[in-house]
Amino acid sequence: MSIKAEWARPAVLLNPLEGEPTDADSHIGGPMLWPIDEPWPWCDGSRHDPRSPGVPGQDIADVGMPFVGAVQLYQRDFPELPFPDGTDVLQVFLCTLHHDLDDIYGPDVRLVWRDSAKVVELIEEEPEPPVQEEIYTPTINVLEPIRFTEYAHSYDRPEHLRDADWPETSSGTKIGGWTCWWQTGPMEFQCRECGTAQRQMLSLGTSEPSGDNVEWSFGRDGNLNIFTCPQDVHHPVTLHID
Ligand SMILES: [Zn+2]
Ligand SMILES: [Zn+2]
Repeated sequence: MSIKAEWARPAVLLNPLEGEPTDADSHIGGPMLWPIDEPWPWCDGSRHDPRSPGVPGQDIADVGMPFVGAVQLYQRDFPELPFPDGTDVLQVFLCTLHHDLDDIYGPDVRLVWRDSAKVVELIEEEPEPPVQEEIYTPTINVLEPIRFTEYAHSYDRPEHLRDADWPETSSGTKIGGWTCWWQTGPMEFQCRECGTAQRQMLSLGTSEPSGDNVEWSFGRDGNLNIFTCPQDVHHPVTLHID
């Protein structure tokens, strides 16, 4: 294996594009395939930052809020994702307020791995939070994925490879690949349950290479990176904003 190949990983840019997806589609910001008899994800509000600038005058400390459907990815469209047996859709939810979490200041995230065949009757209406930070609220997009090979960011490479003339790590919304370190890094995260080194599974980007941004913004126009455990995606995830 060439030295360059060692630092290559497969990646998929989701490549969002304004559209009108249904719950049966992969999308960003569209309707979620959610069964009527299952409680919708809910944030208890205990980590809300009461000074949330987008909601002046509203007391949101300890106020429970529904999560917002942010990303839905079907296995048939994105077989690269580590779907646990018996699941074929990954649903990503954001609580679209500022949270003072241990490692980050931003929206909170929930992942749901679902078997679409088991959803018989859909929820009639998705709960909507009474207040949201506009910067975390996605626009509605269909996806036109672009598959490519991504090379490690210079921060992740050993010193003698740091100046190599490799393509830049993408800051777009993507599956897999490498972390686009900007203000921090490089960092490694261990699974809090089993100690295995986590891998970046999904990154939500402020700036898409296409210029068709989702109009959300993380940190200082950076990325919200979601790291999962390679042993078990149900182990606790790590969120990192860069
Ligand atoms: Zn919340
Ligand atoms: Zn683990």
